[in-house]
Amino acid sequence: MGNSFRIGRIFGIDIEIHPSWLLILGFVAWSLSEGFFPDTYEHWSRVAYWAVGISSALLLFVTVLIHELAHALVARRRGLPVPRITLFIFGGMSHMSRQPATAGEEFQIAAAGPAMSILIAMVTGALGLLVRDSNEKAEAILFYLAFVNVALGVFNILPGFPLDGGRVLRSIAWKRTGSFRRATRIAAGVGEIFGYGLIALGFVLLLSGGVLDGIWLAFIGWFLLGAARGETAGMQLEGVLRRLVARQVMRAEFPSVTPGTPLQQIVDDFMVGHGERAVMVANDGTVAGIVTVSDVRRVPREEWLNTPAQRVMTARPDIVTVEGSTPALQVLTMLGEKGLNQVPVLENGRMVGIITRRELLDRIQLAERLAPKDGPPPPEPELSGDRPQPS
Ligand SMILES: [Zn+2]
Repeated sequence: MGNSFRIGRIFGIDIEIHPSWLLILGFVAWSLSEGFFPDTYEHWSRVAYWAVGISSALLLFVTVLIHELAHALVARRRGLPVPRITLFIFGGMSHMSRQPATAGEEFQIAAAGPAMSILIAMVTGALGLLVRDSNEKAEAILFYLAFVNVALGVFNILPGFPLDGGRVLRSIAWKRTGSFRRATRIAAGVGEIFGYGLIALGFVLLLSGGVLDGIWLAFIGWFLLGAARGETAGMQLEGVLRRLVARQVMRAEFPSVTPGTPLQQIVDDFMVGHGERAVMVANDGTVAGIVTVSDVRRVPREEWLNTPAQRVMTARPDIVTVEGSTPALQVLTMLGEKGLNQVPVLENGRMVGIITRRELLDRIQLAERLAPKDGPPPPEPELSGDRPQPS
């Protein structure tokens, strides 16, 4: 998600926060300190309400993070890496590097989160009972966490994408129909109905006086609606890309210079001249490295004339490459994950072409425009209920 910033790393997973998260954190702390706790516990000082309110809001987000970590760790144990988790206005989101490969895998990953929330609720509830009568403030925090984690667990098993319940529903439909695409369509359809339902309910609440709750509910419904549609679109994109391999989306003609070529010439002839973002450095036909726009930018302009390509290039051993037979979807994922703009394509160790992110996205758009919108879906290469894994 754009604008997110990293706050740390747990179990090798980057934890990021989106600015919208700070907004909701402040809102939760405020509503607890000025509303919920004063209503529930009398005779505390204003400072105490706020101290307990802020602690509760922070701990709530710790439990949301634990919920996400439950998804991420189960996913990782099944060989599906999760590079990062983002906390944002609606809670948390684990970024999986690919879709689950089997219905069983999806079910386990999706169910782990709500199960963890319920577990947290039981533990904090039990601890709350323990400190009851001895420490009212700790009791207040623990009971609040128990209550809100039950709510989180229950809300998350509602069958709307991208809630865990939507994924559980898809895994069940997947198991029954044996088709990931059909299952996604079913789950996304239910998710859309669900999104509309929440929006309608939000308006009813709004008209009957619950303005804030109503707006909030409608907002969540609108978010679920968008997510359900996004899931369908993402699947269509995957369908297009799954049929293509690197060889088909690469450009076979790519600019190449000798190791001694000065940067000034590369900039003039290729980057400014032809809009290239990367140039291969080759020696007698074998690739020695790659020079990108960002490599050039690191050198002061007045030194471009005297700096040869080989001094700033990324050398061959460090270049990320793909094989001609690599699925296009995997190439796109990789470009995104590694933050690359281009990747050379190798065949039998020889460089045969280059894939740039911009050109790949153009091809996808074209393929989408050419694909029939309402016709029957293309035949699926899946019979057993297992999706071929891009490996
Ligand atoms: Zn979850």
